[in-house]
Amino acid sequence: MQTYFRILSYAKPYGRFIPIYIFYTLLAIIFSLLNFTLLKPLFDVIFEQGEATQYITAPEAPEFAFTVDYFLQLFNFYFNQVADTYGKFGTLLYVCIIIVISVFLSNLFAYLSGVVLAKVRAEIIKKMRMDIFSHVTEMHIGYFSSERKGDLMSKMTNDIQEVENSIVQSLRVVFREPATILLYFAVLFFMSAKLTIFTILIIPISGAIIGGITKRLKKTAIESQESLGRIVNILDETIGGMRVIKAFGAQKYINHKFDEETDNYSEVNISMAKKNELASPISQFMGVSVVAGILIYGGSLVLNNNSELSASDFITYIIIFTQVLNPAKEISRAASVIQRGLASAERIFKVVDTPSKVQNPTYPKSVSGFEREVTFDKVSFKYQKELVLKDISFCLEKGKTVALVGQSGGGKSTIADLVPRFYDPTQGQILLDGVPLHEFQLGELRGLMGIVTQESILFNDTVFNNIAFGLENISEEAVIEAAKIANAHEFIVGLENGYQTSIGERGMKLSGGQRQRLSIARAVLKNPPILILDEATSALDSESEHLVQEALTKLMANRTTLVIAHRLSTIQHADLILVVQKGKIVQRGTHQELIEQEGIYKKLSTMQTV
Ligand code: ADP
Ligand code: MG
Repeated sequence: MQTYFRILSYAKPYGRFIPIYIFYTLLAIIFSLLNFTLLKPLFDVIFEQGEATQYITAPEAPEFAFTVDYFLQLFNFYFNQVADTYGKFGTLLYVCIIIVISVFLSNLFAYLSGVVLAKVRAEIIKKMRMDIFSHVTEMHIGYFSSERKGDLMSKMTNDIQEVENSIVQSLRVVFREPATILLYFAVLFFMSAKLTIFTILIIPISGAIIGGITKRLKKTAIESQESLGRIVNILDETIGGMRVIKAFGAQKYINHKFDEETDNYSEVNISMAKKNELASPISQFMGVSVVAGILIYGGSLVLNNNSELSASDFITYIIIFTQVLNPAKEISRAASVIQRGLASAERIFKVVDTPSKVQNPTYPKSVSGFEREVTFDKVSFKYQKELVLKDISFCLEKGKTVALVGQSGGGKSTIADLVPRFYDPTQGQILLDGVPLHEFQLGELRGLMGIVTQESILFNDTVFNNIAFGLENISEEAVIEAAKIANAHEFIVGLENGYQTSIGERGMKLSGGQRQRLSIARAVLKNPPILILDEATSALDSESEHLVQEALTKLMANRTTLVIAHRLSTIQHADLILVVQKGKIVQRGTHQELIEQEGIYKKLSTMQTV
């Protein structure tokens, strides 16, 4: 229930729609009800010919009053007039015309209320989708390695969809169907209190049965959405890794994996459908049984002539009663759909409620600039249980270059990730000009830094927008200038639409070196005082490596740089080289100093020169 109200709370700004909606809905119900009550005079005319005027109680137009009685008398008055002037066929026509008009009005208002509802629903879903999206973009980097991407994607698409479906159902059901039932019952009661009390007794019983079924639905619904999440995950991995799958002939393996998961998904769905489908036949069955009960009980009253009901009353009564079954069926079906929606909403809210581990401080310090140095002070860090960084201390002074080298898995990238606060240290602290990083406004802190990693991340957009990425009001000249520094201008001009060429998802249309030079152009344009380069050239062939290295050297000029290098030749001129092994700094010094010591650096260095 809590979850349900939370979904509805997204609709709060649209509260003004509610009275309009209620107004339209009530009119729709009243006019549809009118149709059925008009059946009675219709039957009277047809069955009880000759006595058609028997029911007419108002020889003169009644005084206006806003009561059921007034309208009844008004109707009877005209009915009488028509019967007198045009005879029975005329009355038949009269009744039918009124029925057609009221059907038209009833459907018109049903349509209008549906439109109002659609607006509210669209707004709720839009806000919810934005909410989860913006929250996900705020999450700490570590969140994206612990959560499966496919599951997250599934939550942001399918689960939202489920909520959308359930909300339509529920919003309608919450008001329209109960109102319909109430109004219909009021009329039924007006027609025959005895019969109506008899029917009302049976309804709670069927309600309880249906409630029992739908409760179990939610668990299955959660399972189903989770399974779908895994399917999206496999899809994502497959499409992303198509090259590798084909190269290794792994289609069979991946097909098998997919097959298993889809099997699971369909099983869960069948089990869900079984419960789902049960609700409506059960309510139908109960409903018809009740009708049969009424037929027997009411029919015997009519046959014995000892009731206030005439035959035409009775038939009308039965017809109106069967109309109550529809909204009742709607309610029971909605109850099961809502369970699915709630299951999805819970999955969504779990994401929205997960706080980012890297938070902006409550009273953030403004970053005024970068003056002196970035200091690692006895920093330790763990992702899970084991420490991957132990007691790391070093100082990156303004205008200098610090290089991290060492075997892969040593912890170099982790060190680099701590500087823009992708993670926070487990122990120790990192200071910028003497102030701990976590005291700064996060966005401003990251604004000081430019990052180029091994994997160049490009977006499905134009070259221009990929370079200007995240920056506003950027002139074309500035982008071209940055591209020139990054050795990218030449190849960009050669593309079909130059800077306006769309580069496709993940930049698949470009070579590795070209992508990397776009990433560098992006960093050049941002012009950050601090630069973090994490193996920016190691994925490249030697020719493009040369071009990229040249671009990097230009980028690094007059900047403070933390560089992780795979090839030692590229960092020989660094002011400080740190050799990282198993989370510790095992050697430190300049190239010249390190090459003269016996140790890892010398070993690595001789290995690479041969
Ligand atoms: P390097 O960049 O020197 O190759 P990393 O900093 O990437 O090393 O990794 C250091 C250690 O941390 C490795 O043992 C690696 O398995 C582990 N590690 C890296 N990223 C994560 C992560 N997101 N979650 C858990 N462990 C990680
Ligand atoms: Mg690394």
